[in-house]
This record gives sequence, structure tokens and C-alpha cells, in this order.
Amino acid sequence: MIDLIKMHVKAGDGGKGAVAFRHEKYYPNGGPFGGDGGRGGHIYFVVDTNETTLAKLRYTKSAKGGTGGNGMTKKMHGKDGDDVELHVPLGTMIRNAANGDLMADLTKPHQIVLIAHGGKGGLGNMHFATGRNDAPEYAQPGEIGESFDLQIELRLLADAGLIGFPSVGKSTFLSVCSKARPQIADYPFTTLEPNIGVVRLPDDRSFVLADMPGLIEGAAEGKGLGDEFLRHIKRCRVLIHVLDMSESGRDPLKDYRMINLELKNYDAELEKKPQIVVANKMDAEGAEENLKRFKEAHPDLEVYEVSALEHKGVTEVLYAAMTEIEQARAAAEAETSTEETVVYRYEPKRPDYVIRNLGNHRWKVDSEKVDRLAEQVDFDKEDDTYQFAMTLEKMGIDAALYKAGARDGDQVIVGTYIMDYHE
Ligand code: GDP
Ligand code: MG
Repeated sequence: MIDLIKMHVKAGDGGKGAVAFRHEKYYPNGGPFGGDGGRGGHIYFVVDTNETTLAKLRYTKSAKGGTGGNGMTKKMHGKDGDDVELHVPLGTMIRNAANGDLMADLTKPHQIVLIAHGGKGGLGNMHFATGRNDAPEYAQPGEIGESFDLQIELRLLADAGLIGFPSVGKSTFLSVCSKARPQIADYPFTTLEPNIGVVRLPDDRSFVLADMPGLIEGAAEGKGLGDEFLRHIKRCRVLIHVLDMSESGRDPLKDYRMINLELKNYDAELEKKPQIVVANKMDAEGAEENLKRFKEAHPDLEVYEVSALEHKGVTEVLYAAMTEIEQARAAAEAETSTEETVVYRYEPKRPDYVIRNLGNHRWKVDSEKVDRLAEQVDFDKEDDTYQFAMTLEKMGIDAALYKAGARDGDQVIVGTYIMDYHE
């Protein structure tokens, strides 16, 4: 069972903007005519419910987005690079291997996340025409696409969790499911102590069932349950609450109350989870009496009579669990589809701007914020231009340019505008 892999992803670089001029019969000294480069291909991860392991990615090892096409003359835009979609199972977690940051936790069917952004295409020189400079030799290079070393982990999310006091028969129940159905696969997990298995019903529907031993055992010792464990139990769509009906010295009525109290104390959400109540060990001495007492105390509760040891009543429990799980899955599916295509973007923290030295007394301010501002400015209007310059100063860009080495008379490319630098 493959549950942890490393892989390298590199989004495509943006295409170069073109430097070109209009050369036509009636425009002997035509203006700048170079188009923009295309965007580099993004790297997406997509939840594919048909996938159950990361095995495919293990063979892929790395993924690379397509490079954006270069801009062309006649203001033609370069073609965008091809995006890459990597299909992963539900329950996949993607981390930045460099620092362990969680970039995505894929918990919804069809969820899609943009992990590495393709570089923006460079602007062609058609954008750089200004009153002062009507034959700009400058066009932007394409941005480099993001790249990451990723650590990708699959944690099978249990659809159903077995809860109950120690020795009530949870492990036996789980093993019976696997014994009874040879197709059931076992998933040895290192990070997840509870035993986990895939239950496949005779009609081929399936769900993931986990034994959750930590619940009461940890709590009884006054230990807080790990976040890990809570995360898991919270994601279970249904809880199978196992009670020991034999004369073992346990009192199923008290046990039932205690476990539910424990759930509620632990997290109010857990109390609301659908529960299937299993009266186990019905083959044992005294079981009928205990069951009778239990039913009298909880007349409205549906109780499933089971002998895990003798493989009796188990299938009924599995079908009941399946029904609850499918309802919950459908609800989750409906929720995601109303959100339409939700793209969760992983946004690394970027500085507001970066000053680049292009050499030859030319500088460039790389900044999405400034680019956006610049788009609103009418550079033919002095007031507008002045105000824009003030904003740059307020953002500390003037000072940053000076610190980087810009001096009087240098050219500064800001957005699509070329400005002269004055100290
Ligand atoms: P867990 O701690 O809840 O996982 O319980 P186990 O599955 O380890 O079972 C504890 C003990 O109860 C074992 O000795 C099992 O053989 C026994 N046991 C489990 N299910 C049944 C059952 O249906 N009938 C009887 N008589 N014993 C059972
Ligand atoms: Mg056990």
C-alpha cells in the first residue's frame, strides 16, 4: 500500500513579450506592435474518486506545465502553455517538502487545487508606448513558473468508525468483515493506529471501516486524543457503536451512556453523527436479558443484534452503514456542486513588489498591486501621473529603487509605463 510519495512539480514559464514595430506601406515609422507572451501551464491536483492509491504518481515522479508561447508581431498573443491535472484519491494531502507547509487537503469529491502557478506571459512592447517613448525597445520576459518539491500523502478517510469500550468486540467485528469477504484489502498504516479496511458489499458497493480504539481508552486515562485521531473520527460519516451484551461484568446501558457523553465532551459535532447501535456477543450467556433491559431503556433506538464471533447479523450492520454513508456522500457531493468549480489556490506569501535591475540604467518594478494600479492611470493626464507617483512613493518603491542603486535619469518600468527616475 503506497501512502507517501515525493514528487517535483514545475509550472510552465510564461512566453516572452515581443518587440516589434509596425512596418507597413503607409506607416513608415509605425508604433510598437509586439504582442504578449502566453501564460505558462498551471499544475492542478484534482480529486478523482476512481483512484484509491497514489501508485500512478509514483511512476510519474515529476510533472511540468507547458511553456507559454512567445508574443508575436501584429500584437499577437502567444499561446498559453498546457495545464497539467494530476488525479489523486480523496484524502490526499499535499505538502511543500521544503518546509512541511500543508498546501492542500483534498477532502471533497472533484475538489481541484492549483498548486503551482504558471508564469505570466511577458507584455509585448505594444504596451510600452508613451508620450515620451514611442519606440520602446523593451518587452517583458515571461515569468518563471512556480516549482515545488512536494510530499504527497494519502490517508484513507474512514467512512465508518467502530467505537466502544475495550473488549466489546470491535476488532473482531472488523476482522469478520474481512474474513467474510475475501476482496477486502487491509491497509497497514503507520500514521494511523486504528485498523482500517475496505468493506465491499456483495453488490460491490464499498466503504472504508476503521476500528477507533483510542476513543474511550485514551479518555479514560485522562489523555487528550491527538488531533490526528480527532480529524479521523470527525470525518467518519457514521459511527458503529459496539456494545457487549454478555455477562462480562460490563453494563451495556452504562457503557452506551458513557461513550456518548465522552463523544459530546470531546466535540459537540461528534454527538450529532449518525450512529448504528450494535448489540454484540448475542451468542453469549445473559445476552438476551441485557438486550431486553437495553431496549426498555431505549425504546426508540434501532438495535442490531450481532454475534461477531459467529458471524451473525454483521451484514445487516454493514448495509445500514452503507445507506448512511451514501446519504452523507450525496449531501457532500451536492454541496460541492453548488459551489461550482471551486479552485482553492495555494498562495505563497509574496512581497508587495520586487525591484529588478535590468542593466543599462533600467529598472523594473514587479508587482501585481502596482500593475493593477497602473491600469487605472491615464498617463496622458498630469494629475493622474502625479498621483500614481505619490502612491509609489508611499509604498516605499522610490526608496527601494534608490537603495537598489537607481539614480537620476534612470528609466523605471512600472506596469506598462516607462518613467524617469528622479531622486
Ligand atoms: P475490542 O477491544 O473491542 O477490539 O474487542 P475484541 O474484538 O478484541 O474482542 C474482545 C474479546 O471478545 C475477544 O476475546 C473476542 O473473542 C470476544 N468476542 C468478540 N466478539 C464476540 C462475540 O460476538 N461473542 C463472543 N462470545 N465473544 C466475542
Ligand atoms: Mg481492539
